Amino acid sequence: MKQLAKRVIVIGLDGAGNMIDQARTPNIEAALSGGFITYSAQTVLPTISGECWGSMFHGVKPELHGLNNEKAETNKYPVDSPYPSFLRIVKEADPTAVIASFSAWKPINDGIIEEGVATYVSNVYADKHLVTEVAEFADKHSDFKAMFIQFDGIDGAGHNFGYGSPLYLEVIEETDGFVGSILDTLRAKDLLEESLIILLADHGGGGEDPRNHGSDHPKDATIFWGCAGPNVSDAAVAEPVLIEDTAAVVAKALGLEAPDAWSGKVPAGLFKETVE
Ligand SMILES: [Zn+2]
Repeated sequence: MKQLAKRVIVIGLDGAGNMIDQARTPNIEAALSGGFITYSAQTVLPTISGECWGSMFHGVKPELHGLNNEKAETNKYPVDSPYPSFLRIVKEADPTAVIASFSAWKPINDGIIEEGVATYVSNVYADKHLVTEVAEFADKHSDFKAMFIQFDGIDGAGHNFGYGSPLYLEVIEETDGFVGSILDTLRAKDLLEESLIILLADHGGGGEDPRNHGSDHPKDATIFWGCAGPNVSDAAVAEPVLIEDTAAVVAKALGLEAPDAWSGKVPAGLFKETVE
């Protein structure tokens, strides 16, 4: 399979749902300009981070990957699971590939991504530190192939102040600034030009409970999902994008075969026809 992008950068905004369109997010807009964005993508049920990030990484519904918050906090994900994370696929294709994961919610690195897959792992206690962490990493490892970054502050604001509330939207705008700083850093090092960028939320909130999520209410289950980079089309896709499609998109961008066990697919029309 043809490799479409030199590297992939996946940026996750925990708990942002599809509410970024209610806030001022010039950096996210710029990052996705010329690419594709939908505000009606669907995450998995229950709409909880362990299950949702699990499906994003492992390409299947929670019934198959088996992850939830408790398991992600306490167990290592089996390295021989039939539902590998997309990072494991990258690693298996090229054991020397530099793979990085930065997270403000530790269970992602501890229990969702298989141990030993990411060559560079960092957990931070506040989102703003991700900016310096990524900059320091990029200084030393400009050859990275895959990078995942997860921001957690938006979800915290949803629990504290209510999803969609003015203070929640303020944290979305602050996070947009962090995303902008990270992308500026990568651009200055010539690391954006041939990169595929995916930006998404794992779930929303405020469906059944104004300060929580987990239900199948559309406010909890609807997410934004955006993608930009070499060969990405802005053509509308016919089917709704599903969070578990993310893994297949990463594999395709890097020219890797998606495992048959993944139920997620590359959304139709996402890549320009010449490369389908
Ligand atoms: Zn939450």
